[in-house]
Amino acid sequence: MNVKSNIYPTKALQEADAAHHLHPFTEHRTLNAEGSRIITHAEGVWLTDSEGKRILDGMAGLWCTQIGHGRHEVAEAVYKQMQELEYYNLFFKTSHPPAVALAEKLAELTPPQFNHVFFAGSGSEANDTVFRMVRYYWDLMGRPEKKTIIGRWNGYHGSTLAGTSLGGMKGMHGQGDLPVPGVHHIAQPYWFGEGGDMDEDAFGLWAANELARAIDELGEDKVAAFIAEPIQGAGGVIIPPDTYWPAVKKILDERDILFVADEVITGFGRTGEWFGSTYYGIEPDLMPIAKGLSSGYLPIGGVMVADKVADVVINKGGEFYHGYTYSGHPACCAAALANLAILEEEKIVERVKNDIGPYLQKRWKALGEHPLVGDARMVGMMGALELVPVKGDRTKTFANEGSVGTMARDYSFENGLVMRAVRDSLILSPPLVLSHEEADELARIAEKTLDDTYAALK
Ligand code: PLP
Repeated sequence: MNVKSNIYPTKALQEADAAHHLHPFTEHRTLNAEGSRIITHAEGVWLTDSEGKRILDGMAGLWCTQIGHGRHEVAEAVYKQMQELEYYNLFFKTSHPPAVALAEKLAELTPPQFNHVFFAGSGSEANDTVFRMVRYYWDLMGRPEKKTIIGRWNGYHGSTLAGTSLGGMKGMHGQGDLPVPGVHHIAQPYWFGEGGDMDEDAFGLWAANELARAIDELGEDKVAAFIAEPIQGAGGVIIPPDTYWPAVKKILDERDILFVADEVITGFGRTGEWFGSTYYGIEPDLMPIAKGLSSGYLPIGGVMVADKVADVVINKGGEFYHGYTYSGHPACCAAALANLAILEEEKIVERVKNDIGPYLQKRWKALGEHPLVGDARMVGMMGALELVPVKGDRTKTFANEGSVGTMARDYSFENGLVMRAVRDSLILSPPLVLSHEEADELARIAEKTLDDTYAALK
């Protein structure tokens, strides 16, 4: 099949895709019956499919394309790097200029406790590194009994064994007898869905206190770390109540366990700060990063390691038997450096905080008036619309959970906007370079999508 021409044989591509390709997170019978959506080009915030239809990328790929699609500066930096040194590894005391430059840049951009990075190929790999590094740290500290890692139900930390185990997605746990031993899950701070009779602030304190309760029950001497996303992304853009993070911080300050803030989604400007940890004033010891690090142009992730942990790994440890062939791949580092240069030079993070973020939030929150919407929330440029059968009543849910969300997601795509469905909510996380006019267009399509869904339910 010739896919190099500009004429894309949609049907042939769909048939070959169905015949030979197992997709991530996809129900294949429906995919094969309906045919996959084939995306062929992208520029700025716009995708084009094989039929020539233009679609606004309201998910920035998969929460990653901060600088928008099609930036030639990144392609050129990668091309140049490929010609100089296409690949070399970082094992056994070797390094190369792009890895050194990226490590130095990350030490500058991340919160002050971070001066070291361990490179990985993705967010999932980064969390495998986290899993091993926290246990290694406590072994080196002479506390080998500190092994249990506490995560949260409905948290997402990736799809590998460690990522799935640390995450709290029950559907994922059900496939493959996970989590692995030594992981404990506590409640998430999801007030809209699970707050019961409590007001938001009281629920935030209750959910934070679940951490203290779990540490006390398991025994502080057995707990290695707590891992959490500053704002849960894949779980449905769960923005914790204002009381949550200050209370968690206090609990962590009083206890001797490591804190891991998974910034794979919230990093690199998504919240209007460089990192979600800065947005919430929390101080992680380890910080997995990926996605916005390269805006998804090439796969790269890593774990930022605070001095407290790095000093022990470097000075007390011998060799940490851990690493990936593609840790700090030169071309991926070059893509990340070019991406970070664009974020800095175009002041994109500041723009999310002061300009396009507030503008989009206003448009998004106005959708909360729609009769189908129970909650319209957004921090920076990540948001959710909770779809409800009875406006004003958080306790009522649709009969077949997820069906209305999926219906709305499909209408949105038809109407020209990619949003994601999580349960019966619609999720948004567009490129950070969205213009005001594009934000207006996005809000217009989202509103039409709500109208279409509402009409279909009558
Ligand atoms: N951690 C978080 C918070 C994520 O949202 C994701 C992916 O969505 C991951 C980890 C896994 O990253 P990857 O898909 O690059 O393995």
